Amino acid sequence: MNKKILALFFSGLLVISAALTGCGGNAKGDKVLKAACSADFAPFEFQEEGNKEYQGFDMDLIRALAKEMGMEVEISNIAFDGLIPALEAGNIDVAISGMTINDERKGKVLFSDPYYESGLTLVVRSDEKNIKGFKDLEGKSVAAQIGTTGSTEASKIKDCNVKNFNVISECFMELKAKGVDAVINDRPVNDYYIKKTNSEGVKALPEKLTAENYGMAVRKDNEELQKKLNAALKKLKDNGEYQKIYERWFGGASK
Ligand code: GLN
Repeated sequence: MNKKILALFFSGLLVISAALTGCGGNAKGDKVLKAACSADFAPFEFQEEGNKEYQGFDMDLIRALAKEMGMEVEISNIAFDGLIPALEAGNIDVAISGMTINDERKGKVLFSDPYYESGLTLVVRSDEKNIKGFKDLEGKSVAAQIGTTGSTEASKIKDCNVKNFNVISECFMELKAKGVDAVINDRPVNDYYIKKTNSEGVKALPEKLTAENYGMAVRKDNEELQKKLNAALKKLKDNGEYQKIYERWFGGASK
């Protein structure tokens, strides 16, 4: 066999093996779902000390959804206001992070069907006498997490000094240190925080400012994944798996 024929033979082999292993296409890539959350939002996504695994309602849900779709899931931790940019840059496939579906975000990403009903409430110090609801925030100072609906709502309040923090735990710390008068944040996260810390020094007020739905966000051009996620979510709701995950984190029946 002359050299030319040998070279042709081996390059042919290379092409075939590339096709088989998926190097040429992305056969394997399609099986891995790159998900991200901002792991500072218990009970939806968080890490416990000494345990690297991401935990929470969203984390169990995305693992169950990936399984249903026949995919492996890889989860990374990205600051909340960096999640949509990470999607847009193609670094991740889906953001699941207690993210409220709203029009502003819909301009940048596609959302799955809603998977959890939330809303904003206030947390104040236990001895707070003057703030009984959102209308009492005029002229007060409020902490919220950067890039969240809580922060947007806070910025609409007249004469309110809004302090934005990277993570919600910093907002609660600031409230306890008397750096702000209230924290605006999602109700289930406020309630969980207060339960976990045995209500030490702070309380949540019952008034709900907004009704918000959480959705998973995917890239604008990834309608295929949006559809797959919706189909898998429906399946988990129908077969009782969603309910099990809901009860694990919130007890009681889901809506
Ligand atoms: N639900 C709120 C939002 O979408 C807060 C989300 C979060 O902090 N993880 O803005």
